Amino acid sequence: MLTDTPREPKTGARSGAERWRRELAGAVREPAELIRRLGLPEALREPAERAARLYPLRVPGPFIARMRPGDPEDPLLRQVLPVAAETAAVAGYGADPLAEQAQRTGSGVLEKYHGRSLVLAAGGCPVHCRYCFRRTFPAGDEGGWRSALAHLEAAGAPAEVILSGGDPLLLDDAAIAECLQRLGRLDGIRRVRIHTRMPVAIPARVTEALVRHLARAPLQAVAVVHANHPHEVDAEVTAALGRLRGACSAVLNQAVLLRGVNDDAATLAALSERLFEAEALPYYLHLLDPVSGAAHFDVDADTGLRLWTELAHRLPGYLLPRLVREAPGAAAKQVLTPSGP
Ligand code: SF4
Repeated sequence: MLTDTPREPKTGARSGAERWRRELAGAVREPAELIRRLGLPEALREPAERAARLYPLRVPGPFIARMRPGDPEDPLLRQVLPVAAETAAVAGYGADPLAEQAQRTGSGVLEKYHGRSLVLAAGGCPVHCRYCFRRTFPAGDEGGWRSALAHLEAAGAPAEVILSGGDPLLLDDAAIAECLQRLGRLDGIRRVRIHTRMPVAIPARVTEALVRHLARAPLQAVAVVHANHPHEVDAEVTAALGRLRGACSAVLNQAVLLRGVNDDAATLAALSERLFEAEALPYYLHLLDPVSGAAHFDVDADTGLRLWTELAHRLPGYLLPRLVREAPGAAAKQVLTPSGP
């Protein structure tokens, strides 16, 4: 359970902090409740409940508010509603598609990339994306980041530390502040990168206190958020990303190419435009990782390249994400994008 923090000022930021906690605690976890709220066909309930036994439903109110009521094909709904296809075993899809479990040091640190360490800072996420490549990982505890930092303090830090999870912004503002200060004291470290879906799932999480801690961090901070469809970036998310941009050296977005969600060039172009209006730059467009239960989202590499080429004809280069995929044990992402449009 997250606790409140004495560092929060008694201003609007404090009420913002209370709001994000309420929205997190009030996330919908029952398929029947999501179906009722959106006025969806009752026939969706039984398969959703069956699939949710393998990977529970979790979706917060602000994300639901951006879905179209009554539309089972809504692109945001498709990302979170459990469906029957998740329960089918598909050859080539497994529990740990990137072999990350073998890369764990036992202290919450993944030594995955050269010159970067990935810290599993918090267990859990504000939203359960059905395509998540870590959907089968055991959830960590909220204090896991301290043992990860102790490991880095003892073993030496790389130039960049990536706070990931789960979602590191599930940590409260005091924990984030402590984490940033301790990271800043490590020899050789230059940057901290924060991988988070929180500003999109629950934009009220970007409190004034969080922004202040990021702005005062003794190292450069980069926020990498996660939105897949332009409907995810509404006015409140735009404001949250703007607040983050004021405190971070860069705000980048990574998306996953998902069948039935964003697998057309017009949608991807609109996503890039919306992100730029919100002061975030498109960074990566990932091909799906072959995790069990997500095969129905797959878009093959040839289709991905064709979509990217269409995108390159619609957008300036700085709005083009790199099309990438990850391979188990590889020292870097494989960039599929041609060198020029
Ligand atoms: S926010 Fe990221 S880590 Fe969390 S469930 Fe979604 S894809 Fe997975």
